[in-house]
Amino acid sequence: MKILVLNCGSSSVKYRLFDSTPPVTLTKGLIERVGEAGGDAADHTEALQRVMESVDLSGLGAIGHRVVHGGSLFSTATIIDDKVVAAIEGLVPLAPLHNPAALSGIAVARKLLPDVPQVAVFDTAFHQTIPADGVTYAIDADLASRWQIRRYGFHGTSHAYVARETAALLGRPPEETNVITLHLGNGASACAVERGRSVATSMGMSPLPGLVMGTRSGDIDPTVLFHLHRTAGLTLDEIEHSLTRTAGLQGLAGANDMREIQRRRHDGDPAAELAFTVYCRRIKEYVGAYLAVLGHADAITFTAGVGENSPEVRAAALHGLSTLGIDIDDTRNRRGDRLISSDSARVRVCVIPTDEEQEIAMETSKALRD
Ligand code: AMP
Repeated sequence: MKILVLNCGSSSVKYRLFDSTPPVTLTKGLIERVGEAGGDAADHTEALQRVMESVDLSGLGAIGHRVVHGGSLFSTATIIDDKVVAAIEGLVPLAPLHNPAALSGIAVARKLLPDVPQVAVFDTAFHQTIPADGVTYAIDADLASRWQIRRYGFHGTSHAYVARETAALLGRPPEETNVITLHLGNGASACAVERGRSVATSMGMSPLPGLVMGTRSGDIDPTVLFHLHRTAGLTLDEIEHSLTRTAGLQGLAGANDMREIQRRRHDGDPAAELAFTVYCRRIKEYVGAYLAVLGHADAITFTAGVGENSPEVRAAALHGLSTLGIDIDDTRNRRGDRLISSDSARVRVCVIPTDEEQEIAMETSKALRD
């Protein structure tokens, strides 16, 4: 059976066609600058029409849609019907930048291919196993409940995939393996995975908190917002733009790409040096916290653009933790091995390329089987 995976962002449509179990990629592509002047498509309808024309849809058994926010409603991939669409629409206030794009992808795909089952795969679903004490903010409980304020967590398909692959690499069953997964891409998050289930993650109600990212601040004191508003006179929209688009590595050193930060750091640029150390220290703080949450970790796994490709970040983030059983082997790390810890270290350190589209394809076929 063929499965088409669609990842509709606000201005792009990524697609990949799989032949399922085990998933093999048949075709993939990216349609960019959707809705922009001179872009690949005028809107999502045209973009998806383009996708449908460019792939061979004979034998298509399902379409899997990436949906960023499933709120508290979805703890697993779900076959899409009118009720599911309405529920995802109801979550737009929680994810105003992300859910509308997925919804337009779903609407167009359902219209073009009404007989093909469609499945929504949520970034938040994997984290629905985090216990109440890990998702509850210590704020007025009535306000929190009325406005659905809690930690949801994101990058769930990536953390789930990478945790399972880590167990496979170690030759252990996933349900007997504890892993701290570090997804370090343009967005970045950490996750504590206990026996295959997420029990803690660094993103929150939105994908803004936690680790330092390309252009997002990660954790800050919320009082910074009041101060920027009252004292500096910024509007709420300006503050949101600043913390999501011009913060993180971009804010600290004027570049959101870790390769450039590293280059400039080697050239002696103090802003790049500070950006690098702030970035790595934050990762270390979360690793320490999640070791405490798990009690025992079998492995720490790096993934995504920075995690997969930067030996420097991996070494700096876990430097000085040998008393906790964490020790990276320099040669393995620089060589790009999958297992980079030293033989004597109690906690294995792994580098595993993430594959969110493949995980979405697997979740899609599982939803149809269940
Ligand atoms: P992703 O969102 O997973 O595609 O990650 C994209 C980010 O990975 C880029 O913005 C870069 O900062 C980072 N990246 C990619 N290649 C490298 C590399 N060789 N060294 C350091 N960072 C890298």
